[in-house]
Amino acid sequence: MENLYGKTLEEIKEIIISLDEKPFRALQVFKWLYKPVFSFDEMTDISLDLRKKLSEKYEILHIEKKEKLSENDTATSKFLFKTLDNIFIEAVLLRYESGSSVCVSTQAGCKMGCVFCESGKCKFIRNLTADEILDQIQMIEYLENIKVSNVVLMGTGEPLDNFENVVKFIKLATDEKTLNLSKRGITVSTCGIIYNIYKLADSDLGVNLSVSLHSPFHEERRELMPVENSNHIDDLIKAANYYREKTKRRITYEYCLIEGKNDTIKHIDKLSLLLKGSDSLVNVIGLNDKFNKKDRKYIYKFKEELEKKGVSVTIRRKLGSSINAACGQLRSGYINKGESI
Ligand code: SF4
Repeated sequence: MENLYGKTLEEIKEIIISLDEKPFRALQVFKWLYKPVFSFDEMTDISLDLRKKLSEKYEILHIEKKEKLSENDTATSKFLFKTLDNIFIEAVLLRYESGSSVCVSTQAGCKMGCVFCESGKCKFIRNLTADEILDQIQMIEYLENIKVSNVVLMGTGEPLDNFENVVKFIKLATDEKTLNLSKRGITVSTCGIIYNIYKLADSDLGVNLSVSLHSPFHEERRELMPVENSNHIDDLIKAANYYREKTKRRITYEYCLIEGKNDTIKHIDKLSLLLKGSDSLVNVIGLNDKFNKKDRKYIYKFKEELEKKGVSVTIRRKLGSSINAACGQLRSGYINKGESI
C-alpha cells in the first residue's frame, strides 16, 4: 500500500479521478492530510464510500517519535524520529519569544565529509523524501501543540544534494492549506554546491540561503570541507551573489571559529575582501564545546575586527549542548549502539 501523506494536491487529484470521484474531493482530502490526520476515519466530511476506496489502496503513515531530549534553560528540544524503513533522523526545536523554529534533516547521513561535523562521519544512507522532511515539522507541531514559524534546513544532510525532494518540500510547506509557512521563514543551508545554488535561485522559491564558509581561503577550506575541491570559493561567492540579486534575500555565511586555524587578521582581511559590497551577514559560531567565558571574549573580538572592515556580523548563540543538539550527534549515538543504521 502506498502512503498518501506527502502527496501534492495535483497528485491527490489524479488519485481521486482514478477512483471515479469528483476532482473537488481532492482538496478536501489534501486539507485533512496536513491537519494532520492518522486515518481515513478522521476525514469526517468525506463520504464513507470514498474513505473506503482510499483505504483499500492507500495508508496515512507518519514518522514516529523515538526520543525527545530537552534543555530547559535554552528552551531547546531535540527529537529523534524513526522513518517507516527504520532509519533514525533528527530535528531540533528552538523556542524563542518571537516564535518557534525547527531545524530539520534532509538526508540520512551525509556524503560531504566536513571534518567538524558528526553527520559527515556517519555513512550516507539515502535522501529523505519531501514528506519525511515536512513530517519532522508537522510531528513537532502536533506533539508540542505549537505553530512553527521558522524552518532551517541545517540538520543532517546537504539539502542541495537532495534538490528535487527539498524543492517539493518547500512547495508543500508553504502551501496555505498545509503548514502555510512563509518563504521568508525557510532557510536552506548549504556547504556550497554551486550548480544547485543557481538552480534554487532560478526556481523562484525565494527562500533564505545560508552558506557554510568556515574559511576564506581555497586550500584551507578544502581541508575542512571536501566540497571545496569541486566548488571553488570564488565561484561559490559569485553564485551566492547571483542568488542575492535574483531573490533579493540577504545571504548568511556561517563561520565556525577554530582557534589558531581560521581566526587570524589574514582571514579577516580576506573575508572582508570576498564579501565586499554583497550586503551579506557573517554568522560566527563557536565550535561545539567551546563557548565558555574566554571563548566568548575571543569570538566577540573576531566579530569586532570583522565589523571594522565593513562586514555585518552576528554571533550564533550556543543552544542544546547538553542534549547533543549539534547536527547528527544524537543519531550517531544510536548508530554506535547498533540500534540504527
Ligand atoms: S556540515 Fe552539513 S554538509 Fe557538512 S558533513 Fe555535516 S551535514 Fe554534511
